[in-house]
Amino acid sequence: MNPHNEHKADVLNRLHTNRSTGLSQQEAAARLSEYGENALAQAKQTPAWKQFLLSLKEPLVIILFIAVGLAWASAGYDFFVRDDPAHGMAAVYESIAILLLIFINAGLSFWQAKSAQKSLDALKVMADHHAKVLRDSEWETVPASQLVPGDIVSVKTGDFIEADVRWLHVAELQTNEAHLTGEAEPVQKQTHALDGDAQVGDRTNMGFSGATVTHGNGLGVVVATGMQSELGKIATLLNQVETKKTPIERTIAALSKKLMIVAIIIVAFTLILEMVKAVQQTGTLSFEVLAESLSTAIALAVAAIPDALPAVLSIVLTIGATMLAKNNGLIKSLNSVETLGATSYIASDKTGTLTRNQMTVTRFYANGASYVVEGDGYEPVGEILPDDEDDTPGFTRFMLASVLNNDAAIQADEDGRSQPYGNPTDVALIVMGHKSGVDRDTVLNKDQALDIDIIRELPFDSERKMMSVVIKDAGRYQVLTKGAPDVLLAKTDLIEDHGKMIPIAEGRAAVEHQVNRFAEQALRTLAVAVRDIDEALALHGTTAQLEQHLTLLGIAGIIDPPRPEVRQSVKELHQAGINVVMITGDHAVTARAIALKLGIVTDPNARVIEGKQLAAMDDDTLFRLAPDIRVYARVSPEHKQRIVHALQRQGETVAMTGDGINDAPALRAADIGIAMGINGTEVTKDAADLILLDDQFTTIENSVRAGRTIFANIKNFMRHELTTNVAEVLALLFGVLLMTQPIGQVAATTPTLTALMVLWVNMVSDALPSFALGYDVPEADLMHRPPRNVKQSILSGVLTRIFVRGTVMGGLVYVAFVWGAASGMSAGQAQTLAFLTLVFGQLWHVFDARSTRTLFRRNPFNNPRLLMAVGFAASASLLVTLMPFFNEVMGTAPLSTPLYAAVIFLPAIPTFILSGLKELYWALRPGKGGKSQSASPNEIPEAD
Ligand code: ATP
Repeated sequence: MNPHNEHKADVLNRLHTNRSTGLSQQEAAARLSEYGENALAQAKQTPAWKQFLLSLKEPLVIILFIAVGLAWASAGYDFFVRDDPAHGMAAVYESIAILLLIFINAGLSFWQAKSAQKSLDALKVMADHHAKVLRDSEWETVPASQLVPGDIVSVKTGDFIEADVRWLHVAELQTNEAHLTGEAEPVQKQTHALDGDAQVGDRTNMGFSGATVTHGNGLGVVVATGMQSELGKIATLLNQVETKKTPIERTIAALSKKLMIVAIIIVAFTLILEMVKAVQQTGTLSFEVLAESLSTAIALAVAAIPDALPAVLSIVLTIGATMLAKNNGLIKSLNSVETLGATSYIASDKTGTLTRNQMTVTRFYANGASYVVEGDGYEPVGEILPDDEDDTPGFTRFMLASVLNNDAAIQADEDGRSQPYGNPTDVALIVMGHKSGVDRDTVLNKDQALDIDIIRELPFDSERKMMSVVIKDAGRYQVLTKGAPDVLLAKTDLIEDHGKMIPIAEGRAAVEHQVNRFAEQALRTLAVAVRDIDEALALHGTTAQLEQHLTLLGIAGIIDPPRPEVRQSVKELHQAGINVVMITGDHAVTARAIALKLGIVTDPNARVIEGKQLAAMDDDTLFRLAPDIRVYARVSPEHKQRIVHALQRQGETVAMTGDGINDAPALRAADIGIAMGINGTEVTKDAADLILLDDQFTTIENSVRAGRTIFANIKNFMRHELTTNVAEVLALLFGVLLMTQPIGQVAATTPTLTALMVLWVNMVSDALPSFALGYDVPEADLMHRPPRNVKQSILSGVLTRIFVRGTVMGGLVYVAFVWGAASGMSAGQAQTLAFLTLVFGQLWHVFDARSTRTLFRRNPFNNPRLLMAVGFAASASLLVTLMPFFNEVMGTAPLSTPLYAAVIFLPAIPTFILSGLKELYWALRPGKGGKSQSASPNEIPEAD
């Protein structure tokens, strides 16, 4: 039997469940093991060994394989032709070390890809779908994967339907089933059994897994889960979501390709040049010369490759994502870490994000007189005092309508404190009712004298900005409506004033005056109205037919205090060149009053654009106005998307918050869609890039700060790594080009550094400090700089600096080598001198690389990881020149103590001189604040 053909009670019986208690926890667990998790089956993952081999296809790795090939060729010559096994063994060591490096690197990338996936999966679990389910008579929220057939579930606007359900109760429930039927229009749901074999789209008493609730709410029993659901039947296996490369990862991939080509050209050029040089000098091409040339070529190939870069980058991005989650900002992809740092506009909802969403009615106007409501928070204690003691015409009808047309409740907790349940605006009205002695439960259930039933509910939505109920009061029907005063007044015919009914034309001015008075005090305003209707309209009228010809009973003024910490956040964001825009469904005057309190605007007459003005405006006008507008009021969710587009057209990177289902398209359109973790609907969370676990605006600021920090750190370590590569390549190339004659004991073809020395620098003395740079604390002025331009590559503006520093360092390394050779050192010692000069040059340079300015501007001791990495790299590099095993393998040789002292300290000179020159340049440049920490990087040339 199909559940849509069955009666509700039959479905419940068949599934052995109960509408008011739900399943027991035990039964639910048993069914979970019987039916399995409520999830679609995943496609098989690529096996680990395949993933590992795939990582060997990278261009950087290919270059290293070429180096291995060259090393074997060289060893072959030595063993079989030249008969020089000692030299041959050196080449074999080299090839083993490079192979080792390849596998360590591939292992590292593989491990990091796995752990990045794990961290992202963990974050995804936090962002997973949830469902509200009745178990053992208690409503609880469980991960959607835990639903089983027979579960009783409840859904409301903005939820996903997480399994196939048969509806038991619906209130204006509409769902969108486009994923199954292709039909974009929402389907109205009902609970009666259907005859015959209805198609999925016509099964109006069923809800389907993956559909969204676009309106109303409903209660249903789960009839199918996972692959048994309609979605499961049509779903092909879900492929593992491919992790897309982030823009920085793409920049590095493109750079790697370019470097591979450069490396091949340099290697070929070097081989030819060395051979020509030898032929010119000796007249023949000896194998000895060929072997030496090969050594240089191998060293060069290794030197050109920033081996550790991709692995370090992904690790740092993943660490960033985890760090953000600890800060209550949950991001769904690594891309968002980068984009967050570039945010230039934050468009935020008001209620709940900028304000506390703890609403209290402090004033109201009813029956022609106004009142102050005393008392704070949710405690139902406080006097209601008239503004004018001689004018108290009574407000019972207003109070009754406020509490009956209401979804909320308050209940005392164990400590006797009142706790709110439901929509905060409605809670405020319930508390006001209690203060005046009108209690919803008493009116509906306990008071024998009253015979009032709620027979229909037309739930609130932010498009209509109203909600209504239809009641039957002792045989008479009434619709009670409440909502935004401007919207409601347009549907009002009469106004209650001192017991009389005044036509709207006469009474409108007085009411609007009250609304403005409340709004100027930053109060949220809400109008309450009533209408007598006949039975036919009561039972069958549409929302639009019911919500018209109203009689206005009064206006409530509700305070929703701004969150105290937001003002400081807004100030800091402004300093960081990031604009904050408030987008709210609330009244224009209320919105501006709150924006003033929070520092979003400073001008009390700041322009506010309202939804209806937006609707009348074309996209070009909005595009021109958008940069100057900070407050949008009475907007509907669809306007948000237009605001995002207008700002994006201005070249801005826009972060946009949202909580309702209709906000989802705007969140998708924004560069960073932000959903509220607590109050947000499931659909919005699904569409978002960032989920605020605590719903706080300050978390957005912290996430942007973290995004900027991570980006700056990545930029710093890339700059450092690439400087090393330039230095290594140039040190070797200078040797090839300039050393045309033997010097002392050192042959003209001896490379400045051996391949293993270069490898050591890349993997040890460079990679470790680079990694530590990834964890660096932000520079003091990080949030005093304007947002970065997303269109620019991470390397723009720093290439000159990389080349200048790299060239000076490479030159110094070559000079050290030549000086060593000229002082009569062996080739090994001269190369060791060059090696240590490079190592220490870079270890000094790393302190400069962590600043966008110079090393004088940063406290060298505030990154302990960096100090440890530098200490370790320095000691290990000295040790490999002293230990015989490494002397043999790497070609190093011990030096004298004064020389060690010299190679430790002298390589600091270029860094200090270049940084000093830069400082001098800023100091002498007229009108430029080289000293001011708040100067923007745009004013400061990154180049030397
Ligand atoms: P934001 O978009 O910043 O979250 P908001 O919460 O004020 O602002 P909406 O929830 O769309 O925006 O509310 C818009 C207006 O609808 C409110 O100003 C109020 O007048 C009215 N309103 C809000 N909640 C209710 C409710 N529960 N019943 C009736 N009317 C309501």
